[in-house]
Amino acid sequence: MTTSFSIHGVGVSSGIAIGHAHLVSNALLEVVHYQLPAHLIEDEVERFTNAVESVKTDLEQIRNSLRNSAPAELGSLIGTHLMMLADKSLSEIPKDIIRKEQCNAEWAIKLQMDDIVDQFEQIEDEYLRERKQDVIQVVERVIKVLLGHPSQLTSEQQASAINKERKRILVAHDISPADAIQFKQHQFGAFITDVGGVTSHTAILARSLNIPSIVALQRARDLINDGELIIVDGTQGVVIVNPDKSILTEYKLKQDQWEIEQLKLQRIKTTKAMTMDGANIELFANIEVPEDIAAVKASGATGIGLYRTEFLFMNKREMPDEEEQFTAYRAVAEAMKGAEVIIRTLDLGADKQMNPDTVVTCANPALGLRAVRLCLSEPQIFHTQFRALLRASHYGNIKILIPMLCTLAELRQTKLLLERAKVSLRKEDIPFNENIALGGMIEIPAAAINAEAFAKELDFLSIGTNDLIQYTLAIDRTDDAVAHLYNPLHPSVLKLILMTIKAGAKLGKPVSVCGEMAGDTKLTKLLVGMGLKRLSMHPSHILSVKQQILHSHLSQLNLNARKVLDLTDLEKIELLVSKLNLR
Ligand code: PEP
Ligand code: MG
Repeated sequence: MTTSFSIHGVGVSSGIAIGHAHLVSNALLEVVHYQLPAHLIEDEVERFTNAVESVKTDLEQIRNSLRNSAPAELGSLIGTHLMMLADKSLSEIPKDIIRKEQCNAEWAIKLQMDDIVDQFEQIEDEYLRERKQDVIQVVERVIKVLLGHPSQLTSEQQASAINKERKRILVAHDISPADAIQFKQHQFGAFITDVGGVTSHTAILARSLNIPSIVALQRARDLINDGELIIVDGTQGVVIVNPDKSILTEYKLKQDQWEIEQLKLQRIKTTKAMTMDGANIELFANIEVPEDIAAVKASGATGIGLYRTEFLFMNKREMPDEEEQFTAYRAVAEAMKGAEVIIRTLDLGADKQMNPDTVVTCANPALGLRAVRLCLSEPQIFHTQFRALLRASHYGNIKILIPMLCTLAELRQTKLLLERAKVSLRKEDIPFNENIALGGMIEIPAAAINAEAFAKELDFLSIGTNDLIQYTLAIDRTDDAVAHLYNPLHPSVLKLILMTIKAGAKLGKPVSVCGEMAGDTKLTKLLVGMGLKRLSMHPSHILSVKQQILHSHLSQLNLNARKVLDLTDLEKIELLVSKLNLR
């Protein structure tokens, strides 16, 4: 008999999902499982054989091209990978699995890899035990090739594979942003992890997928078995494993109610976000990839307030070149048909690494070479991105946003590089918007305190509350151990936001919030009351935030916000905000 139990974590994306657990290791999240009809099995075996051959050729080519000066370990590592690939356990047994399980090749080799890794984990010698990483790396190579040459499934078979996937709930110890971005191509029902913070980029991506998700469950991956039925309540942050019949019925009902509420919200999709006393608030969308535009359109957002371009750089060996970037930015600009599109320059570093397996070597990556600091230290990155952005500006209403500004010197150097990119395009007669607007993220306390100076030299400001909270309160936004201390209502955070709003108002420069605070309905009235006229959030939050605005009077919100800002005690602020939200 299966025992039912529940685990509590932090809900980062609301809603309820009911499905079967799919345990994943970090490395192989991309692998989907589907069954194939009998007549396609031998084709699948051949697809597998070809993929193994192709990896073998690649590895041999790499080994042959190694210079004499290359470290000896590199050559022997490739030799080890080639040996592993030639071993029956990786080159033959997956074929048997494909035939026996009638499944896709990616799944077969993943099953086999899990088995081998389990055997390695039994080894006492630590060095030998860690060789499992080599197996994982070799298998990853094969899977990458397989993904580039998909099976010949009919569209009906693909739809049925997707349908099965929709019912799966991903259970992982941790998921990096680079892993999570790949979920956009999948249709999981929900995902849950052992670690993670509410405003970590993984959580942000979960919200953008609009599927329930929970982080900081501590030991979910140990406690849950593959295939077990689980309920994920993203609103309450609860996972129920092996629910009994009555609990299941109750949650199915809750799930229906949630869906009805979401449908009801659709009624205000085309309604202007205006308070009852006529103040217009602009609700913009945050996106990570051009494919998010469909969700932006469905949400009724009036523009894009934050396009996080770093996701274009993830899961790649090389940085995307100017052409690839230009194509992505242009696609977004054109799809928005003249509406504002604020594109942020590369914000790599800290929890956002190009690859999930990148080892971060500095002690405090969030305080390290991140965002604008990284781009200024490697100006070629900036040059390429600025040229791509400027070229794309010819095709729509693009504005550029610089992340993590701390000093005016950084801003001025950035402007010089932007000018240099403009000069190079002029020389080549390539059209672009000469007057492209330049904005800065206010997400470091130093920048908020000095916001007036930044406002003088910029066209607009955008408050990144996720980092502003992290840096003001000295709380790592990805660390669940201190997640309970991460609080947007801390009086010092509110004061910094107010300083920025006032600086913008004084100099006539628009100010928005594009951090997760903007999409939190419990904070909408406070932020609008503090003077914000533009909020940018994930498309899935736009309608519920709009509903808050439609039921408010700006004059009352202003009065209420003043009362909140007079307080210096966090507990009292929390109490007053929840009281004022009821009105
Ligand atoms: C922020 O810090 O609030 C922000 C919007 O940027 P990111 O979450 O990408 O760091
Ligand atoms: Mg930030």
